[in-house]
Amino acid sequence: MREVDERQKERKCLSEELAAQGIRDKMVLESICTVPRHMFVSPELADYAYYDAPLSIGQGQTISQPFIVALMLEAMLPSRADRVLEIGTGSGYAAAVLSHLVHRVYTIERHAELAKEAYARFASLQYDNITVRVGDGTKGWLEESPFDGIIVAAAGPTIPKSLKEQLAVGGRLVIPIGEEGQQKLMRVYRSSSEEFLEETLCHVRFVPLIGEEGWAEKMRS
Ligand code: SAM
Repeated sequence: MREVDERQKERKCLSEELAAQGIRDKMVLESICTVPRHMFVSPELADYAYYDAPLSIGQGQTISQPFIVALMLEAMLPSRADRVLEIGTGSGYAAAVLSHLVHRVYTIERHAELAKEAYARFASLQYDNITVRVGDGTKGWLEESPFDGIIVAAAGPTIPKSLKEQLAVGGRLVIPIGEEGQQKLMRVYRSSSEEFLEETLCHVRFVPLIGEEGWAEKMRS
């Protein structure tokens, strides 16, 4: 019980830290306050889970820094009835935070082992509005499209055409674009079936998006 209270206190501090850094969306901050990030990392890293930092999750990948998760979710302008696609499940943490904000989350991970671990976490924590799939997320999830929002947790060379096509009219896609060291977080708004408005939000640092509409696997790890 003491541990539960302690972790709750740590989550509240983290959420206050994110608010001080400029995150304004109250629902996003509340969700950060609710999701037990320490259960999305290995037990040895649990004590670091409420630092605002990325942590290793195996397969050469990381659970994103909480500030970046909050920034991307806020930028996607989530709304209760939304169906949202996430590319890059990783630990499942961002999908869990998102699941408190929207109706349904679809998430794709290219590493089968990470997807399996995330699935087990969703089941044990009873996140029953999240569906996970293993595959190349650059091609989206055609059978479940269109999506009101799409969040990409890895940086591609360009905005994948398939993801733009799978956005609903009025939908928002948030994606880091560019080479290591020169990545920009972009938001794409689909204003009509033909029109997409693109804006650059800030500089960021992400692992590469590997796939048919991303970077080639043999060039990158
Ligand atoms: N959202 C995750 C979390 O909360 O733990 C962090 C994601 S991590 C920064 C980026 C993830 O994107 C990695 O797990 C990586 O394997 C995955 N990834 C890279 N390219 C991908 C692709 N084409 N399709 C699906 N996942 C991909």
